[in-house]
Amino acid sequence: MIPELEGTKRALQDAIDKGIDTVRTLTSGMVESDEADLRYKICESCPEFTKYTHICSQCHCQMNVKVLFKLSKCPIDRWTDTELRNLHGTR
Ligand code: SF4
Repeated sequence: MIPELEGTKRALQDAIDKGIDTVRTLTSGMVESDEADLRYKICESCPEFTKYTHICSQCHCQMNVKVLFKLSKCPIDRWTDTELRNLHGTR
C-alpha cells in the first residue's frame, strides 16, 4: 500500500471511532442531577478545568454538558476518585 494512504486510512478510522464513541455517549441517557452536580464540582476543583469557558484542557469538552451523560468519562479518572467524592459529596 502507498505509505501516505496508510496514514490517511488510520486518521480516517480514528475520526470514525471518535464519532461512534460520541454518538454512543450522547445516546447513553442522562445521569441523576446529584451525580451531574458531583461530577461538575470535581471538575471545578481540577487544575485542568477553565472556569470562564467550562472547558477541560484534557478532553477539550464543555464540562457543564459532558457531566450529564451516563457514558461520559473523565480522561484522567477523577470522577471516580473516592477522596474527591467524599470531599464534594455524600458518597
Ligand atoms: S473531566 Fe476530569 S480532567 Fe477534565 S476538568 Fe473534569 S475532572 Fe478535570
